Amino acid sequence: MLTIQELTPIPNIPESKFKRIVIVGAGFAGIQLAQKLAKSDYQVILLDKNNYHQFQPLLYQVATAALSPSAVSFPLRRLFHKTENIVFRMAIVRKIDKEKKILETNLGHLNYDILVLSQGANTNFFGNKNIQTHAAPMKSTSEALYIRNKIISNYERAVNLKSVEDRRPIMNVVIVGGGATGVELAGAIAELRNHVFPKDYPQLSFENMRVILIEAGPSLLSGLSEGSRAKAKSYLGKLGVEVMLGTMVEDYDGLVVKLKDKEPIETITLLWAAGIKANSLLGIDSEQVAKNGRLIVDEFNRLINEDSIYVVGDQCEQKEEKYPHGHPQVAQVAIQQASNLAKNLKLDLQNKPWKPFQYRDLGSMATVGKKMAVVDLPFISFQGTFAWLVWLFVHLMAILGVKNKLLIFISWAWKYLAFDPSLRLLIRPKYVKPNKREWLLDQDDLE
Ligand SMILES: Cc1cc2nc3c(=O)[nH]c(=O)nc-3n(C[C@H](O)[C@H](O)[C@H](O)COP(=O)(O)OP(=O)(O)OC[C@H]3O[C@@H](n4cnc5c(N)ncnc54)[C@H](O)[C@@H]3O)c2cc1C
Repeated sequence: MLTIQELTPIPNIPESKFKRIVIVGAGFAGIQLAQKLAKSDYQVILLDKNNYHQFQPLLYQVATAALSPSAVSFPLRRLFHKTENIVFRMAIVRKIDKEKKILETNLGHLNYDILVLSQGANTNFFGNKNIQTHAAPMKSTSEALYIRNKIISNYERAVNLKSVEDRRPIMNVVIVGGGATGVELAGAIAELRNHVFPKDYPQLSFENMRVILIEAGPSLLSGLSEGSRAKAKSYLGKLGVEVMLGTMVEDYDGLVVKLKDKEPIETITLLWAAGIKANSLLGIDSEQVAKNGRLIVDEFNRLINEDSIYVVGDQCEQKEEKYPHGHPQVAQVAIQQASNLAKNLKLDLQNKPWKPFQYRDLGSMATVGKKMAVVDLPFISFQGTFAWLVWLFVHLMAILGVKNKLLIFISWAWKYLAFDPSLRLLIRPKYVKPNKREWLLDQDDLE
């Protein structure tokens, strides 16, 4: 096996008189940091395994045919058209040599003066290989698209089966994880069942389709206020979602979901939104990794025991008095940490002292279905139609790009007025020849 030094450098990276900052990951934290460092006296090399940024909060709408994948994904190169000091490369980062300050990627190696890791997190199956094999996670646009295809193909299949008993496992959908993702997915799938599928498949009886949301803890949306948690549960009830609290999934073989101390459920569609684990790369010392897999950083987001490596967003664990176990893994933390680090890196150029990070919680929200959402702001919490409008507005404003905002606005207006999302297309991936896979398959499928 080649060592990092034996690999060739990534070609065509421009020479620069400035210090080089390499950012790994163009998620919420990575692009915020790169944008804040635009036109600064640093050379910034941004690496991501995809050539687009993914807006994860709206992935469930891709999975449920309400939005197209391109509405929630933004081309990274377009973001940096006018910023000469920022170079983007689509690359998978694998390993780091901290002593020599070199990164190993699938394209070759890359030197850095300062390294910022913002690789986010991936799905946590808690070591259960069967669940990992058979359940569908939803952390990326391609996984959301897979879920859309899976759900639609289920009904195209069910409509050809004579027996109701045979159809049942194909029609049922089970979602595991009662956080915002699970709640939003369950609500959206129930709305499809209640309003859309019966029109598309009049030969199927949708009373036979169960939408079940399973949560191991005692309530849904555990980080939200009691009022919001109760309201979300009652909204799901109105939509006909069966909510099972205090329920542990023990195993899944692709057909039967085994539950601890409860009756098993038959489904070929288990959507897994039950946990995440931080991404990492080879070359990090074990004492720099917390028990939960997050990389431990100080109040400046500096990786412990290092002076030129920083970690921001979901990948890091940073303790504050109010957050003794680290901050919640949400977009606002990632964005705020990246902004603070950008300010500090600029202060460094002026030899000024750095400012420690302090998280400002702006609130949390989740939507359950049309006109049903819950919003907790720092001083007030509200639910219902107004909360739903606030949710729509906040998400519309947060998405990158005017075209994407317009696309989403039009898709939502159409969906909510006509209750007929128009994206129920089953576009199946074509077989990719082995020698073309590296460039054409989702990188995670190659690992
Ligand atoms: C379905 C879903 C819904 C969510 N809803 C909400 C919500 O409503 N509100 C909220 O605040 N938060 C929400 N979150 C959480 C939020 O999306 C994350 O907290 C946020 O994305 C973290 O930002 P990040 O920059 O740390 O990581 P990410 O945004 O995950 O970005 C990480 C980037 O690193 C890249 N990467 C990873 N490994 C490598 C590698 N080895 N080489 C190259 N590139 C790599 C990835 O491709 C990715 O682009 C949701 C998450 C999911 C999955």
